[in-house]
Amino acid sequence: MTAKPVGGAANAAPLTPAEREQLRAKLEALSVRAESALSRKQGELKNEDADLFRDLGPTGDWAIAEAEFERDMASAAQSRGVVAQLKSAERRMQSGEYGWCEDCGAAIGFARLSASPAASRCVACQGARERPAGGSVSR
Ligand SMILES: [Zn+2]
Repeated sequence: MTAKPVGGAANAAPLTPAEREQLRAKLEALSVRAESALSRKQGELKNEDADLFRDLGPTGDWAIAEAEFERDMASAAQSRGVVAQLKSAERRMQSGEYGWCEDCGAAIGFARLSASPAASRCVACQGARERPAGGSVSR
């Protein structure tokens, strides 16, 4: 009889020490870059918005100014999210949980991690989270 691994999806191999080290360096570099992008963005945001709203004058197009402001805020929020994800990946790296799926415990695999080093779930679990079966979909 052929013994099949229970649970299926056991196709990704655990990280080797070399792969792990490579991803650790990548995470570190990304995290430095994301943080500097974020602080730059926040600085820009202050100056730009002050200009934006001052230059408008009484007949200025507030709709456009507001749309731009919101877009900037959204991208700043997104950067903050990225920084948070990278930080949590670094923490998992230190605690030894890095590379293992948070949900099912399977190895996430080097290919996936090297494409998205902050990934904390395997492809199957991430997919399940992003596409909740039925129910309310908020955009
Ligand atoms: Zn999983």
